[in-house]
Amino acid sequence: MFSYDVIIIGSGPGGYVCAIRCAQLGLKTACVEGRETLGGTCLNVGCIPSKALLHASHQLHEAEHNFAKMGLKGKSPSVDWPQMLAYKNDVIGQNTKGIEFLFKKNKVDWLKGWGSIPEPGKVKVGDEVHDAKAIVIASGSDSTSIPGVEIDEKLVVTSTGALELAKIPKKLVVIGAGVIGLEMGSVYSRLGAEVTVVEFLDHITPGMDADTAKVFQRTLKKQGLRFILGAAVQKVETTKTKAKVTYRLRKDDSEAMLDADVVLVATGRKPYTDGLGLEALGIKTTDRGVIETDAQYATNIKGIYAIGDCIVGPMLAHKAEDEGMAAAEILAGQAGHVNYGVIPGVIYTHPEVASVGETEETLKDQGRSYKVGKFSFMGNGRAKANFAGDGFVKILADSTTDRILGAHIIGPMAGDLIHEICVAMEFGAAAEDLARTCHAHPTYSEAVREAALACGDGPIHS
Ligand code: NAD
Repeated sequence: MFSYDVIIIGSGPGGYVCAIRCAQLGLKTACVEGRETLGGTCLNVGCIPSKALLHASHQLHEAEHNFAKMGLKGKSPSVDWPQMLAYKNDVIGQNTKGIEFLFKKNKVDWLKGWGSIPEPGKVKVGDEVHDAKAIVIASGSDSTSIPGVEIDEKLVVTSTGALELAKIPKKLVVIGAGVIGLEMGSVYSRLGAEVTVVEFLDHITPGMDADTAKVFQRTLKKQGLRFILGAAVQKVETTKTKAKVTYRLRKDDSEAMLDADVVLVATGRKPYTDGLGLEALGIKTTDRGVIETDAQYATNIKGIYAIGDCIVGPMLAHKAEDEGMAAAEILAGQAGHVNYGVIPGVIYTHPEVASVGETEETLKDQGRSYKVGKFSFMGNGRAKANFAGDGFVKILADSTTDRILGAHIIGPMAGDLIHEICVAMEFGAAAEDLARTCHAHPTYSEAVREAALACGDGPIHS
């Protein structure tokens, strides 16, 4: 007799969703978590707290830049940093306690402590060994650094330290113009820091549709972020209170330096599987530590599965959640499935940037024939009323069939608007299907419809 049908290791978005779905499907389920609270990186030191700081700092930006224009006069708010951090911590608490409630409601046991797998079918947590028919590894990922840069989470921080700075730095240097660097760079820029982003590539946000990335960079520049592109950071030296960042420009190999009060290292993340005992079990990983699985999330060792950031694919909470649900369904004997062609990506800056499916670059690489329907938020009445006219919706559709292949939005609520296109893509829709759907006026969503119209006979408002 096994004590559990499934034990999931890790309670991030992959793990906790998998656990809840397993329990809902009638499996006796436990989830192992060593943190004091459930929710993993996303809820404790990632997605959720960063969104709280983005929200608060955006409100400040609105007050400073747009209130007077709307006839809202008076003193701009000033920043009470300890209170802003307290607000952020309260948001974390509400969310992590929410997962605890859902575990109780669904009868998922929380095994408190760090788990390891001494042998297939067994999970050790502290001094106790539990057995399970299936084990799902959902241990997530951890920040990486680069050679010559030592993290102390005070002067030289990862995203975790950046959410807990003792004070707002005067000068912040961000290494890496990816999602974390730009989101946290935006927060501190709005709060008054002078932010310089040093990026190895010649453009920001690798993998993003190039047209969108260009407009995104221009927008951030207008907001005060400074970019040094094509620059490889060589080292970061620190004194007690300051840091010095040395980088080399790739175009001419020249070296230069930047002073900083804080350096944020946002150069990517790696799978976190420390202490699980993967090597002793013989679980296959790539040389970058990514656990190898088949399409059913099974590792090469019978009864051991893996999902989320520790397996292949984009390190996104919602990708992990979907894999968690699919894995649960597979373990319950159903046909779990994730459509990897329709996983949206969102950057929660202001404006937001969201994308799904193919970019123009990937379509060109595949030699596919496509058309572009683009519509600027300048032509959207609601956006104009809300000082949100910067940006556009761009839909890529097959030239012959009109089927939607991808979409890229930079603009207000882009992270929400993208889902209309995700659903359309899931249903195999043509751009015309979106264009012929009545959209309420006045909404930002009308810009999506106009971009769909632009794939056909043309938009109305441009
Ligand atoms: P990233 O991979 O998105 O970006 C890292 C950037 O650092 C790249 O542009 C890279 O070229 C640059 N870089 C690497 N070495 C460098 C060097 N020596 N000098 C200068 N630049 C260098 O990584 P990230 O922003 O750290 O995010 C990590 C993961 O977390 C990503 O998978 C991301 O999708 C995920 N994440 C997602 C969200 C979201 O969906 N909103 C938010 C936060 C994190």
